[in-house]
Amino acid sequence: MATSGKSAALSHIGKIRANNQDSGYAGSSLFVVADGMGGHAGGDVASAMAIKRIMLTDTTYNSAQDAEFALQSALLAANALLAETVFDHQELTGMGTTVSAIMLVGTELAIAHIGDSRIYLYRDDTITQVTADHTFVQRLVDSGRITPEEAAVHPRRSVLMRVLGDVDSSPEIDTTVHDVRPGDRWLLCSDGLSGYVSDEKMHLVLSTVPDPDAAAQRLVKESLDQGAPDNVTVVLVDIDDSGDVTRSSMTPPVLVGSAAEPLSFEADVPRRPLRLPTLLLHPLRATPPADEHFEPESEEYLDELILEDRRRARNRRIAWLIAIGVAAIAIIVGILLAYQWTQTRYFVGADGTTVAIYQGVQADVGPLPLSSVYQETGITLASLPSYTRQTVEDTISADSLSDARDIIERLTSVSN
Ligand code: CA
Repeated sequence: MATSGKSAALSHIGKIRANNQDSGYAGSSLFVVADGMGGHAGGDVASAMAIKRIMLTDTTYNSAQDAEFALQSALLAANALLAETVFDHQELTGMGTTVSAIMLVGTELAIAHIGDSRIYLYRDDTITQVTADHTFVQRLVDSGRITPEEAAVHPRRSVLMRVLGDVDSSPEIDTTVHDVRPGDRWLLCSDGLSGYVSDEKMHLVLSTVPDPDAAAQRLVKESLDQGAPDNVTVVLVDIDDSGDVTRSSMTPPVLVGSAAEPLSFEADVPRRPLRLPTLLLHPLRATPPADEHFEPESEEYLDELILEDRRRARNRRIAWLIAIGVAAIAIIVGILLAYQWTQTRYFVGADGTTVAIYQGVQADVGPLPLSSVYQETGITLASLPSYTRQTVEDTISADSLSDARDIIERLTSVSN
């Protein structure tokens, strides 16, 4: 009988987020990662509530099929619980959570999965993604509209098509049964890991760090090294073949992330009065989800979103062109104003062998002079005392035209 020889669970808030909306659980047979979403005090509540409901199924089963059914029922029960909670706490409207769960049963395991958290299997020195992302971009990839490379950088890559929450009363949950082999390493993680750490890096850690705690820490560190813009949660399950040592006999179950904290919303907010009319009109959909993590599933809507993305890209390009145009106009106007200012200035200088009043400033911009002769005076340089001549050749600044004329008068008086 295959058992979890050792497991590890680790959750980190990351480097950007204000709170940790991920939750993780490592029990005796059950291992779960949940990534919550929703505005103020929503996502952390959703993932913690889901995990606490699902962990009630952590027991022994006769078959992997029984475990599969139990997991699916638990996820649906968690979904109903979230909807009930939103009904009582309107401020949590739109909260939801992904769930990816593993239940070990003998030489098999059952998986239940919804959302974009992932389960990977490391076996025979190869890492394989076992779950499929229920994301908008994965739908686009599956239908051939974009490539996986485009999906990785797509602006809507975090939009989920399916989650547990208050939107859908019977969400579609993926369940599967897999063989388990001694030496397997099953990795459950939130997109805070898989979205920022490459499969190659994960493979390197899983193939070189045998201790699950150390491996989980290394994986979280890889995400932190990438800047960790999101919460990061890792649950790692190592399968050994001893058969008589189950994890539960060694260590108590571990909860990490928001599931490890007390639920904070219950005390803060008074019970909301019953809002029966809205509920009757739109069962379980009395208010739209608050953020864009969930989108209804239909081909028409997908096409609409693709068109909208294109429109946005086009609008961004137009906005750029306008911004560049405005900047260019501002620069031209600035140059004209600067030139205009230079033409309010005067100075006295030499023009060949005679003295002249110049309009502008004594500088050139590239090949363009910023001054021109305004008035010839008829005073020859030769008629000036040598010191005065030198001063004229170096140019004499004037504050105004009349100032320049005063200078000419003084020069006339010293010339001979
Ligand atoms: Ca996340």
